[in-house]
Amino acid sequence: MAILLLADHDATHLSDQTAKALTAASKIGGDVDVLVAGSGVKGVAEQAAKLAGISKVIVADDASLANNLAEPLAALIVSLAGSYDTIVAAATSVGKNVMPRVAALLDVSQVSEIIEVISPYTFKRPIYAGNAIQTVHMSEAKRVITVRTTAFPSASQGSTSAAVEQVPTAASFSALSSHVSDALSSSDRPELTSAKIIISGGRALGSSEKFKEVILPVADKLGAAVGASRAAVDAGYAPNDWQVGQTGKVVAPDLYIACGISGAIQHLAGMKDSKVIVAINKDEEAPIFQVADYGLVADLFDILPELESSL
Ligand code: FAD
Repeated sequence: MAILLLADHDATHLSDQTAKALTAASKIGGDVDVLVAGSGVKGVAEQAAKLAGISKVIVADDASLANNLAEPLAALIVSLAGSYDTIVAAATSVGKNVMPRVAALLDVSQVSEIIEVISPYTFKRPIYAGNAIQTVHMSEAKRVITVRTTAFPSASQGSTSAAVEQVPTAASFSALSSHVSDALSSSDRPELTSAKIIISGGRALGSSEKFKEVILPVADKLGAAVGASRAAVDAGYAPNDWQVGQTGKVVAPDLYIACGISGAIQHLAGMKDSKVIVAINKDEEAPIFQVADYGLVADLFDILPELESSL
């Protein structure tokens, strides 16, 4: 049984999402080859080669692969697929963009966002915004799988480096999309999906100024990433890329502090796997308290400045 794992990277750094997806791939069982596709990705390939337990790194380095467009990347994966019975990617933006295309081109069904490997053909995955867990048995010989990485720990680094092999890009692909530009937000804070601590604010904050005034100082003291509910994002109190939940980011930090967030199921879908959840809400009936390990029935505008000064 051979597995091809698509590496997630920004052409400079190998994302930790790859090490987490590798843990899932290793549980499926069989030799795991890591595919690093991109332009100028020699350094990423070297980082991937240090992942423990992989057989080799396959590198496709070409300008056509520079921006993770689904068409050239899927064509590359399909050109390699003959040697593999399982193709795995982390359920990141890139994985979610390219893998359905790979599955369609191979004419197989995809199993998305697995959270547990029961056997090489049987997986668990969340449905209905995480309110139910589905067990899926795949009968197809070739499997296309994405991994919800918050459910798996990172694979460790090996003591030696695996072999690195170059492959050509796919001979042809349909150029349906083209890269226009990247609009990246830069922040000194940790990235939301990999942060160990997250402090999130909800509609209760009332304005972006209040977010800055009461949430950010605590985040700075804790070295935390900042999250927000959709209500806070929709109201313009917080930027889009802070949104946690079903239609935002799925996070599982060591500590999640929810401030003035009611705990709607769509928000819980994005954070309920956090290891320790602290909720601050002035309504003791708020549903967030049902998932919280520690709950504080209080006004966040009193508590957060106190917390900041105690920290
Ligand atoms: P509210 O529900 O209004 O809650 C505010 C809370 O603040 C209340 O519990 C209140 O008691 C408390 N509060 C008020 N003042 C204070 C104070 N001074 N101190 C302390 N507590 C106070 N939501 C998401 O978050 N993420 C998603 O990804 C998402 N996706 C969605 C997808 C769909 C298809 C749909 C239909 C909805 C989605 N939602 C999502 C929206 C979700 O249903 C809720 O509307 C939203 O999460 C509510 O945000 P909130 O908790 O900030 O606001």
